[in-house]
Amino acid sequence: MKGWMFGIFLVCRAFPMPLPAQNDSLLLQGLKTDVFYLASDSLGGRAPGTGGAEMAARWIGKRFETLGLKPFIENTWVQPFTFSEEGKMIAAENLLALTNPEKPCKLLISAHYDHLGLESSHSREVFKNRIHNGADDNASGVAMLLALAQRYMQKEKELDYSVLFVCFSGHEAGLFGAEYLAQHLGNALNQVAFVVNLDMVGRLDDAQMPPPLYFRLPDDSHWKTELLPVATEGLKIVVKTIETPLDHTPFHKKGIPAATFSTGLHADYHLSSDDAEKINYAGMAQVFFFLEKFLAGIL
Ligand SMILES: [Zn+2]
Repeated sequence: MKGWMFGIFLVCRAFPMPLPAQNDSLLLQGLKTDVFYLASDSLGGRAPGTGGAEMAARWIGKRFETLGLKPFIENTWVQPFTFSEEGKMIAAENLLALTNPEKPCKLLISAHYDHLGLESSHSREVFKNRIHNGADDNASGVAMLLALAQRYMQKEKELDYSVLFVCFSGHEAGLFGAEYLAQHLGNALNQVAFVVNLDMVGRLDDAQMPPPLYFRLPDDSHWKTELLPVATEGLKIVVKTIETPLDHTPFHKKGIPAATFSTGLHADYHLSSDDAEKINYAGMAQVFFFLEKFLAGIL
């Protein structure tokens, strides 16, 4: 290695090379497009069993297809299930896609796409009939999942495992989609080494330095201590045990290391004001780069 080349090498080592600016702007643009669509009024707040949830499901399926993902269930992205809420039976759909059906599925990345619709007993809104757009909860998680799916498809040939991407429904009414999948994963359940759930990842709090990203997992988690996330990409990682069940919980109960990433609660939580304009898209990109490194490190 020539002296000047060595100098460049040292500079590169000391200051990790950021991705080319164009990649960053494409990533930002993709995250924004996905959140704005899912959180638009035309989807009416994506309550399970409504036309808005159906539109969201069809759209996520289209996005899976465009990214080159493969169905987990033969010939379809859709896993239908029903649940009962306040005495009503509701038909809902999980959406499932794999990077490569020929390889063992070691990683499950999930995000719920349903939200509260116009009103719900889980809403904190005092006014009636306002659309709960759920931009952070959880259009942000779905957008992050799709960005990760795109990145995994780009490096698919280098990997000896497949990644299962799942968008859950029935979350807000009681984690019904996650529960249903955990009971119906079949043989894949024995292959999945980690479940990483994304729920509300769009409000990174830049006012705090460094901004916190929460890693929520059960008290008696199966996650090995040496594999817990540590600070990188300018983020402070807050590992928190949580008793309240989240979409990772049914998988934890099956003995799988499972946890949820979130940028945390905020004033618009479960209100009609959880809108796409309020999302911190640069913060989402920062979380994306963190997740990409973290996920590559655990497998
Ligand atoms: Zn919610």
